Amino acid sequence: MKRILITGGAGFIGSHLCERLLKEGNDVICLDNYFTGNKDNIRHLLDNHNFELVRHDIITPYYAEVDEIYNLACPASPPHYQYNPIKTMKTSVYGAMNTLGLAKRTGAKILQASTSEVYGDPEIHPQVESYWGNVNPIGIRSCYDEGKRASETLFMDYHRQNGVKIKIIRIFNTYGPRMNPNDGRVVSNFIVQALKNEDITIFGTGEQTRSFQYIDDLIEGMTRMMRSDNSFIGPVNLGNPNEFTMLELASKVLEITNSKSKLIFLPLPGDDPRQRQPDISLAKEKLDWSPKIELHEGLIKTIEYFDSII
Ligand code: NAD
Ligand code: UDP
Repeated sequence: MKRILITGGAGFIGSHLCERLLKEGNDVICLDNYFTGNKDNIRHLLDNHNFELVRHDIITPYYAEVDEIYNLACPASPPHYQYNPIKTMKTSVYGAMNTLGLAKRTGAKILQASTSEVYGDPEIHPQVESYWGNVNPIGIRSCYDEGKRASETLFMDYHRQNGVKIKIIRIFNTYGPRMNPNDGRVVSNFIVQALKNEDITIFGTGEQTRSFQYIDDLIEGMTRMMRSDNSFIGPVNLGNPNEFTMLELASKVLEITNSKSKLIFLPLPGDDPRQRQPDISLAKEKLDWSPKIELHEGLIKTIEYFDSII
């Protein structure tokens, strides 16, 4: 049994990770300030004696004796991270410093939930880990993109300077049950709109692409990364390489929900990346991992979830 701290544990990804690590018999501390997360996401775990819920903001230090840390605390959807961009940057930077400081003192292994956003609007396709990215440092997405890039820098420097045992994963667009229905990300938006027979909001022409990964595949990859040999620190891409345009995504959602919704076209937000697709050769080689759940199957499960809560 390990004592594991998950920051951002009441969020979409964090709640699935808490569930998985508890199932394996670990002692889990779920830390969250509930900015975008929700107690409902982890309510079913509260009776488990190995589960502890802590309301805390990771921009201030947190003290506990732990063996492993998953650092997930950070709003992830553009409307939420742009709501208070200065706070987003503080969460990424101070949050990384505080969790790395904890890892340094306790000797815990620490994993950073980084993102495909570190590649910005990529000029290399698909994106490999060795690509340094094409990120606007002064745009409306910068608080998130540059915050995550700075936290990768901090992870590498704590590793080089202090020998902290780090792991960096770069997560590509992930979806599934427990996404916040109001969080503004494309999969949740389209599903909620389709289920309510409201207009489907396509930003721009809808020809921009993303590669969507189902949550269960990500959790498998994350836990494999944490358990991998200490000499493999990443960064490693975790995503599903199957790439879709937003128009293709909309048509799949409409087909599965049998919805009467119509498409409407709205302006493309600033700095919206045109394409995104992970090269996952490194994850295959080092973690023996690849995603198993394709978009159609994952959408069916996610639509069932949203249908049950709307
Ligand atoms: P989410 O918004 O559902 O979860 C983030 C959690 O962090 C929430 O519970 C929120 O309340 C908490 N949080 C935010 N600021 C905090 C702070 N200052 N102190 C403590 N808790 C705080 O988003 P998610 O999709 O579950 O994302 C989790 C992590 O994975 C994030 O770091 C995100 O950047 C990263 N990520 C997610 C995706 C994706 O597609 N979902 C892609 C790339 C990276
Ligand atoms: N998008 C869209 N309609 C929406 C929400 C998003 O067309 O209602 C587009 C958005 O402009 C982007 C893509 O879908 O091109 C993915 O957006 P999301 O916010 O889910 O993730 P990210 O841009 O961070 O990859």
